[in-house]
Amino acid sequence: MKRYYPFNDYLKKKFGCKVYKVSVDAGFTCPNRDGTVASGGCIYCDDAGSRASYCDRGLSVREQILKGIELVRNRYGARKFIAYFQAFTNTYAPAAKLKSIYDQAFVSDDVVGIAIGTRPDCVGEEVLDVIEQYALKRDVWIELGVQTVHDRTLAAINRGHTAGDSLSAIRAIKRRAGLKVCAHIIVGLPGEGAAETIETARELSDSGIDGVKVHCLHVLKGTIAEKMFAEGKLALLAREEYVRRACDVLENIRAGITVQRLTGEAPAERLVAPLWVNGKQRILKMIDVELERRDSFQGKLTR
Ligand code: SF4
Repeated sequence: MKRYYPFNDYLKKKFGCKVYKVSVDAGFTCPNRDGTVASGGCIYCDDAGSRASYCDRGLSVREQILKGIELVRNRYGARKFIAYFQAFTNTYAPAAKLKSIYDQAFVSDDVVGIAIGTRPDCVGEEVLDVIEQYALKRDVWIELGVQTVHDRTLAAINRGHTAGDSLSAIRAIKRRAGLKVCAHIIVGLPGEGAAETIETARELSDSGIDGVKVHCLHVLKGTIAEKMFAEGKLALLAREEYVRRACDVLENIRAGITVQRLTGEAPAERLVAPLWVNGKQRILKMIDVELERRDSFQGKLTR
């Protein structure tokens, strides 16, 4: 038993078995990289845009899903799947084109859900009209890059949107039948301490989100953050401090919010620092130990 609500528990209860995410790269870019909102992107964004290493942009979405399903079926005996549109901004196209892309994901009834990663300024009503249709039959998640509710930090990391945009997007998504929001939070952003992290967790918890993904700021090769780090302009958290702040997040979000990630990994060849982020199991264990030490659990400090 965890002292928080793992996403796997939610999926097992809903679908009767473990459900595996299959990532696809549908060839999107991002308005924060192509000059529409800004150029250069968020300081931590690299050319892969969070793409899973096994994704092949040369294949169609359908081919990628079929290949990914085969992979996890053979490796884990997986039976049910969520198609995860992960790389860059996966709602950044006209509505008709989005529909033709998402439709390809449903290669069989074993694809029980879809998760779409995007930015708060890219979920207009036409986009939601398209996505809402999938919720009639499937579990539909919009994974929203919120990162923090502090505008000063959002400006410092060149996000190109405000905290108000994030909260408006969450409200717009939650008005749609069946759509669920998973908010991404980055811990250890420039200028933020534990107090700012707690404020982010509380505000998001109150906003009605259904899930969170939390990870520590880390530096990848070829990013603006790499340059800042080399010049001594970017401080990164120690593992112990990250663990404490991850527990702070858990204590300050409602008990019913699914916890979809508590640490982020990066391909070793692209990771600059901190190297400890690639010790996932150790970090998860440390979070368990810290919650036990505090005699605490998810939602303990929610208002
Ligand atoms: S919003 Fe996402 S894809 Fe766009 S620049 Fe930022 S991290 Fe990269």
